[in-house]
Amino acid sequence: MPDTDPRQAGASVDAIADRILGAIWEHRLPPGTKLVEEKLASAFGVSRTKVRLALARLTHDGVLSTEPNRGTFVGSPSVAQARQVFEARRLIELAMVRELAGTITREGVARLRRNVALEAASRARDDRHATIRLSGEFHLLLAQLGGNAFLQRAMRELCSLTCLVIALYDAPGMPSCPHHEHTEIVDALEAGDGELAARRMAVHLEHIEGTLRLEMPAEVAVDFDALFR
Ligand SMILES: [Zn+2]
Repeated sequence: MPDTDPRQAGASVDAIADRILGAIWEHRLPPGTKLVEEKLASAFGVSRTKVRLALARLTHDGVLSTEPNRGTFVGSPSVAQARQVFEARRLIELAMVRELAGTITREGVARLRRNVALEAASRARDDRHATIRLSGEFHLLLAQLGGNAFLQRAMRELCSLTCLVIALYDAPGMPSCPHHEHTEIVDALEAGDGELAARRMAVHLEHIEGTLRLEMPAEVAVDFDALFR
């Protein structure tokens, strides 16, 4: 018996990072989870060095946080950070679809529709993990079609953080992305109507943020006298 899984023996640093990121996107690795190098190295059948490099990449991407003497953890955005994530997404994504409406090809529209169809199928079979991942990938695909590598990188980080935010603050039973809204955004892009696409994106991001419970106060003044006296 080989002591490593042959399918993963040659896994590259990027492949390992992508699989960890995929698990975060699918909500299989919850926010705050400690990532132990030895355990991951044995799970992937690779050296600890490769795991360390993969974790460093994800830390650099803003998805993991490293705390001195404590280790590396899946990120756990605060309420204030969650608000900033949505603010940044509004600034980027509205401008992105406005521009994309003038440049998108028929093939681009088809790729977006394929994503929407896959998401609908995973929703229909009640596969929550795949649904969350695909709904995030829709937004990454928009960035990809836009062709700006810097915006793609920013969107990758923002979508990953959104997944963590949803895992932390989602009201139970609420869908992450109302899925007919993706269809409506694609319709506007296909029609070449950038303003309509931007308006629909604004409503869409508002809906996602609205399903979250971000109203928790960061600091609560505790009256210790009332509490313990
Ligand atoms: Zn969406």
